[in-house]
Amino acid sequence: MSDSAATSPSALQEVRVGAQSLERFRGVLPEERVDEGLRIAEAARERLAGRVVWNVNSTAVGGGVAEMLRPLLAYTRGAGINTRWLVIRGDDEFFRITKRLHHALHGSTGDGSPLGAAERDHYEAVLTENARELAAVLSPDDVVLLHDPQTAGLASHVARAGAKVIWRCHIGHDSPGAEVDHGWSFLAPYLESVPVFVFSRRAYVPGFCDHGRSVVIPPSIDPFSPKNQELDPDTVRSILVHVGLVEGPPPDVPPTFERTDGSPGRVGRLADVLRLGRAPTWETPLVVQVSRWDDLKDPIGVLDGFAAIVDGRAPQDAELVLAGPNVHAVADDPEGARVFDDVVAAWRALPHAVRNRIHLASLPTADVDENAAIVNALQRHATVVVQKSLHEGFGLTVTEAMWKGRAVLASSVGGIQDQIQDGVHGLLLKDPRDRTEFSTALLRVLEEPALASRLGEAARERVREEFLGFRHLTEYARLIEAIDRGDYALPEETP
Ligand code: UDP
Repeated sequence: MSDSAATSPSALQEVRVGAQSLERFRGVLPEERVDEGLRIAEAARERLAGRVVWNVNSTAVGGGVAEMLRPLLAYTRGAGINTRWLVIRGDDEFFRITKRLHHALHGSTGDGSPLGAAERDHYEAVLTENARELAAVLSPDDVVLLHDPQTAGLASHVARAGAKVIWRCHIGHDSPGAEVDHGWSFLAPYLESVPVFVFSRRAYVPGFCDHGRSVVIPPSIDPFSPKNQELDPDTVRSILVHVGLVEGPPPDVPPTFERTDGSPGRVGRLADVLRLGRAPTWETPLVVQVSRWDDLKDPIGVLDGFAAIVDGRAPQDAELVLAGPNVHAVADDPEGARVFDDVVAAWRALPHAVRNRIHLASLPTADVDENAAIVNALQRHATVVVQKSLHEGFGLTVTEAMWKGRAVLASSVGGIQDQIQDGVHGLLLKDPRDRTEFSTALLRVLEEPALASRLGEAARERVREEFLGFRHLTEYARLIEAIDRGDYALPEETP
């Protein structure tokens, strides 16, 4: 096992995480809540003395899981708990199979390839290799959180080493179906030795999981990360002008932010933007969707829905920014480039007068903190943040926008339903495929600034209450305490 995610020739890679004090939350949460959380953290520290809490996932950067792990682990370490983060290694075929599984658990067929014996053999071979190294560093009393289908095959190895295993699944589908069952039947044998499962929603717990041993812990965001930290309007403008998403000149402040490790950062790279003519002015109301280039995020639906209001009654000055990571930089998402090409083709097919109000932005990803600061500025500047997903595990982009007090218009799917109560913390689309419903709601929120600001204010409070990392950590602490008490023993282990 190596210390660096970049250079290891061996299977497991360790991601180094800093330490951060939970005291920081005094700035955003009521005193009594912070005090209670600190008491829970102190009890956890005493109980976990001499033990390690391992997190194992499949990527150190990119995607919601890595985004959450970094701050959560930093706070845990800051609380004096020895938490460590390992990333498994797999080849292209392994990640193709796990992407296929990911699609299945979302109810879609993905590339339509089989999940049969050959795929099982390959999946197991890769994870056995990773498990050998993992077993070598585990102590019997350690706690191991395995994240998502990519790591499920490690569970029996971890259990054999005597450590306490938790399988944390971040994805799922609201209703069962043949494809979802197909994915779960591939995974089920690997989960037999797991005493406790964590899901993001109750509806995601598959039929074969003992509901008594399945805990629901919704995801969270970190209010202090480069993605979510406060940025004053001049800095937002400076960042957006610098990257080319808003027309200049920039204000007289630098495009700076605070990095994850607390050091100062500066946005230096540019966004790769496909547009006709000029960038939007600072005053132009922006409709924004930030997502990976993935059909399930329905970028073409957003494009067409926006085009429909431009054709019709749209407030004359609104423009759309569809932003996502630079596809050429995301080696582990084989479908991103194809989806982006489809979006470009759909954009080119629009009439000139519509196209010149739609901007397709590929954001630089070489520096994760810089990418996050750009997303932060874009979300803060948006008049409306949309997330027109066809399916969604949880939808961190929704949480991020809500925390920034934005009016959010999002599909009523997956975890988005747990975040937004329609008309209170945002607007929900009943049918994510209905573009007329989307256009109508978009027009409404653009035309009613008072509605937008009421939704935005309620959204921020909702996130403060429910979806900050502080709540997430206390739930984990309680779960580990319950595991130590023996609340989640496998049936054969029960005395
Ligand atoms: N994201 C990002 N840069 C991008 C596009 C997305 O940092 O160019 C982030 C986004 O801000 C969010 C995460 O990727 O934190 C996506 O999580 P979400 O739950 O919305 O969807 P997922 O990609 O996990 O399906």
